[in-house]
This record gives sequence, C-alpha cells and structure tokens, in this order.
Amino acid sequence: MQAPKLIYYLLLGSNMNDPAGQLKLALQHIAALPELQVLKISSLQRTKPYGKTDQDDFFNQVLKLQSPLAPEDMLSTLLNIEKQMGRQRGQKWGPRIIDLDILLIQDMMIETEKLIVPHYDLHNRLFVLELLTEIAPDAMHPKLNKTISELRQELMSSAGGNT
Ligand code: AMP
Repeated sequence: MQAPKLIYYLLLGSNMNDPAGQLKLALQHIAALPELQVLKISSLQRTKPYGKTDQDDFFNQVLKLQSPLAPEDMLSTLLNIEKQMGRQRGQKWGPRIIDLDILLIQDMMIETEKLIVPHYDLHNRLFVLELLTEIAPDAMHPKLNKTISELRQELMSSAGGNT
C-alpha cells in the first residue's frame, strides 16, 4: 500500500551569494525529487536579518508541497539539499547560503530533539506569516488553534511583533 501523502509548508531563506538565485536553485532541487510535489509557491520577500542584525538582508519564500515522506525523512531530505548547496553549519542566526525549514505539516504536532512542528517561531515572525497568508490563509496552527491569517493580524496589531 502506498504511504498517505502529507501536505507540508516549507520556508526557504538565503542571504549569501545571490540569495534570489539560491532560492531558485533550492526550488529546482526540490522539484527534481519525484517524492516531492510542489503545489504552491509564494512571492519572494526581502527581509531584515532576524536575531543577528549585522549581516545582509535575507530573501524568503514559502512553498506548499505534497509528499508521502514521513516528517523525519522530509527533514533529512531538506538537510541533504542544504548540504548539496554548500550550507556550512555555523553560527545560530548567522549568514546562510540556504535554509530550509518545515513550518507546518497538516495538523501534526511534533516535538522531538530533531524536529519541532509547527516551527517554534512561526507565529512570531511577520515575514513568515505574510508569505504563508499568500498561499494558506486558512491553514490552522494546531497548537495555537488559530488560522495563519488570524496569527498575522494578531502580530501586526501587537507592538512587539518581529518583522
Ligand atoms: P538551522 O540551522 O536553524 O536551519 O537549524 C537546523 C536544525 O534545526 C536541523 O538540524 C533540525 O534538526 C532542527 N529543526 C527543528 N525543527 C525544525 C523544523 N521545523 N524545520 C527544520 N529544521 C528543524
């Protein structure tokens, strides 16, 4: 029997060596894998660096994928693409050639040493909520029990929202 397909939302980010080109390349890596089916692609947003400010702006994009891969296999697949694209494991919050994060997997809640889904900071980052709102405004955050567009509204109206 075939594994059931899961809906994944991913965040792509880069702030090194032609970031927009790196996102395009990451998308090509993803689209080339038969087990990953790209369903929707957000626009590309230029974002001020988060956490560590003395570095170039990031470019970010969100994808909706369908895949029979289990979450931990999806994570390994994404880490492998990062590696193939020359990602060095360095400083937390530091510059990166490519960053591929899992934002949401349907209504799954995962908290293992390797994987936290929904992404632990999804609801605190306005750029993520804006990009997700483009392609999945009604998707639910299963832990907070609110839709993506509700979370975006909430963050926009709270003075302390990180952009
Ligand atoms: P980073 O260097 O910020 O990209 O962190 C990568 C590490 O975060 C990976 O090795 C994962 O084990 C871990 N991780 C935890 N939750 C997630 C997630 N939702 N998506 C991607 N990586 C995650």
